[in-house]
Amino acid sequence: MSKDTTSFSNSALRGLPSIAKLIDTEALQEASQRFGQAAVTTATREAIDKLRRELQGEQHMPEIPSHAALANQIASGLALREENVLRPVINATGILLHTGLGRAPLAKVAAEAAEQAARGYCNVELDLPSGQRSQRSQVVERLLCELTGAEAAHVVNNNAGAAGLVLATLAAGREVIVSHGELIEIGGGFRVPDVIASYGAKLRPVGTTNRTRVDDYARAIGEQTGAVLVVHPSNYRVEGFTHRPELRALAALAREREIPLVHDLGSGALIDFSQFGSVAEPVASESVAAGVDLTFFSGDKLLGGPQSGIIVGRRSYVERVARHPLSRALRVDKITLAALHATLKLYRSPEEARQSIPLLRFLSTPLETIKARTEELASRLRSQLRDWDTQTQADEAFVGGGSLPQQAIPSWSLAITSSAHCVEGMAQRLRVGEPAVVGRVQQEQLLLSLHAMLEEQDEQLEQALLTASQSLASAE
Ligand SMILES: *Cc1c(COP(=O)(O)O)cnc(C)c1O
Repeated sequence: MSKDTTSFSNSALRGLPSIAKLIDTEALQEASQRFGQAAVTTATREAIDKLRRELQGEQHMPEIPSHAALANQIASGLALREENVLRPVINATGILLHTGLGRAPLAKVAAEAAEQAARGYCNVELDLPSGQRSQRSQVVERLLCELTGAEAAHVVNNNAGAAGLVLATLAAGREVIVSHGELIEIGGGFRVPDVIASYGAKLRPVGTTNRTRVDDYARAIGEQTGAVLVVHPSNYRVEGFTHRPELRALAALAREREIPLVHDLGSGALIDFSQFGSVAEPVASESVAAGVDLTFFSGDKLLGGPQSGIIVGRRSYVERVARHPLSRALRVDKITLAALHATLKLYRSPEEARQSIPLLRFLSTPLETIKARTEELASRLRSQLRDWDTQTQADEAFVGGGSLPQQAIPSWSLAITSSAHCVEGMAQRLRVGEPAVVGRVQQEQLLLSLHAMLEEQDEQLEQALLTASQSLASAE
């Protein structure tokens, strides 16, 4: 840095306002009323620090905003941050289980049950007829047994927690046998080898990436074995010259050698999804029927319920898992239990589940219906959106959520383009709109999919597009 620029920035730095001065401005006094003194002080300090760093790097005499302008910036930054917390979003991405958008939307009855549990007291650990203390999730667990054919069930906070609890209970200080082909990463830091190590177990990989036989498992079982783990590689597929043993054969081996066989099912379908078309995922009851000792899966993936991890299987193992100290750290709250119970009840009638659980409805919507909805919305938009061209086009939707990401579902989308405006600008306006809309920008087109939208949201999307295009036009 030359001498001149140093003196530029030195004199500029002297012009920076103090925190106290800024907080004294009308805008920040008002902001203190809304967001509290502490938040305003922190935001003001951050803003001044940021400005100082910018000035230090400047080559030319920079302009320092007026106190009032700076205070206004800080206040609107705070307001934006406040509004940005867990806002409702219309998911127009076509990804049905979008982890960034909270995975599965709940069925109406599940949301109502959660609300009721949240607003008052409920008998989460009390048997009302006898007045005795009861097990927290007994009702839910009974339903899970009914739906999967398992002897016992246990519910925890999520499937990563379920996997950890199972490994900690059965395999801490011992070996876990896993096929090379299943040493996968699910995403978000969930890597099977690391998970096993973090619960104090030792990984014993067997077989090869593409082929593993029952014999490979049989040879690896020994004094040190804590469990045999099978992982459903939800987001990864080995194709071609492959082999993996039937669950039944592995279960027979595990039984003979008196070693527990545990199965991370991942997305955990309770019913056979192939009836809805292309999606074929292992079903929890099949794993139980094959003789797996403990099967675990997510509650907020294909099941379509609240975030939770579900463990089902043989009673003696489930009881050991439930008694482990970690179980307490992973327990679910009454709101989750209420929502999960209401969701599971719907599965007593698969048709009821299909109609009431949004995810199942999305998955089973006929292509023609999506196409017709998309075309109807497109024709309404064409007559209202000036400067924008609205087309419909064949597209794909995805299950997502770490399960079947590459399994595409045939679908239709709105394709919106403009010669006058930039589609990125439109996408940004939609994201900050009310409600927020998240779509995809692909090859200069804004693609909006109705596949993961409830029917009543079509009109909201129409309104959001009109508002965003008006705001874009008036800003130019
Ligand atoms: C998604 C997934 C997990 C993690 O489940 P969460 O409910 O997100 O904690 C673990 N294992 C497999 C195979 C998965 O697909």
